[in-house]
Amino acid sequence: MISEKMMQITENSSAIRAMFEEGKQMAAQFGAENVYDFSLGNPNVPAPAEVKAAIEEIIRGEDPLMVHGYMSNSGYEDVRAAIAACLNKRFATGFSEENILMTVGAAGGLNVILKTLLNPGDEVLTFAPYFGEYRAYVSNYDGVLKAVEPDTATFQPNLEKLAQMITPKTKAVIVNTPNNPTGVVYPEDTIVRMAKILRDKEEKFGISIYLISDEPYRELVYDDAFVPYLTKYYHNTIVGYSFSKSLSLPGERIGYLVIPDEADDSETIIKAASVANRILGYVNAPSLFQRVIAKCLDAKVDVAYYNRNRETLYEGLTKAGFSCIRPEGAFYLFMKSPIADESVFCETAKKYHLLLVPGSSFACPGFVRLAYCVTYETIVNALPHFAELAREYNL
Ligand code: PLP
Repeated sequence: MISEKMMQITENSSAIRAMFEEGKQMAAQFGAENVYDFSLGNPNVPAPAEVKAAIEEIIRGEDPLMVHGYMSNSGYEDVRAAIAACLNKRFATGFSEENILMTVGAAGGLNVILKTLLNPGDEVLTFAPYFGEYRAYVSNYDGVLKAVEPDTATFQPNLEKLAQMITPKTKAVIVNTPNNPTGVVYPEDTIVRMAKILRDKEEKFGISIYLISDEPYRELVYDDAFVPYLTKYYHNTIVGYSFSKSLSLPGERIGYLVIPDEADDSETIIKAASVANRILGYVNAPSLFQRVIAKCLDAKVDVAYYNRNRETLYEGLTKAGFSCIRPEGAFYLFMKSPIADESVFCETAKKYHLLLVPGSSFACPGFVRLAYCVTYETIVNALPHFAELAREYNL
């Protein structure tokens, strides 16, 4: 018999899995080109050419033991130094390789830092809607995830509510900007105000509150949106970065944590996080891809492709009568369901071969998420079906 905890998590995660399965069945029945699957956040823009060139160069040039062997649990020193230098150049920060820990994607990084920080019962705050996996990651270490309710007009963080929800048990706040599932980017002024709230509460309760910036979408921004680098605004910031979306490498599982010297107990956290990386069973981030990304730190995926998708989809949906938040980053669009029960709306959408994810998966019922990391043709061909769906609801 599996554990009670896993029983519950497995049951809860079956809804999205069921949708994937249904998508596959629909594709077999109607032809893949006639099914418009907006459910998955799997990048469809290829990794930049630099990635393939780096793989080939490394495989041809280096001693295989150096490429495939174990290394320090934190990752290769030279790779971490290259990342620190790149961040310092981009954001005028002062990191060294000591501040960088290579991780198994953003998911691995979040698990490492939560294992490092949380005592059972510690509270972690985040803003709804949020990436549903946070629930499982926090529960992995017996923490308690609490969601600040959304401001559904803007989907910007509700800072008054954040301030009210911080207690002496608050250990961390997770923010995700550019955001999955809304596509919003938090402006600098919001970050400044959030940092002040956290500093005031730290002082009031005599505690350290760590701001975990989960930023796999940092590089996917449109219209030159500015994404502040949070370590510059708040001393107890820990950054979780990933190359899954920025270089279209989600299957390779490569990312890093930044633990700045300014963070309270930084030295102990750095040491403990390296041990956490090992004992969680990751041991270290994939060796080949540490080397690959070190050669590709200035490479970029074709953001213009996502941008064209974003504009076409947003315009098409609003023209059809749907109400959506205009995304500024990532590759997701959050749309208001025309009926309160968005799961029923998602079921109806399937009649038109449209696969959407209910907002309840992100703790935000009444909305649906569309992942527009699909081909441009999928979007163009899906729009008449969205128009029919809108007519069904008299929009
Ligand atoms: N955080 C957010 C907000 C995400 O959307 C995702 C993946 O979709 C992750 C973390 C996990 O990313 P990775 O593939 O780098 O583990």
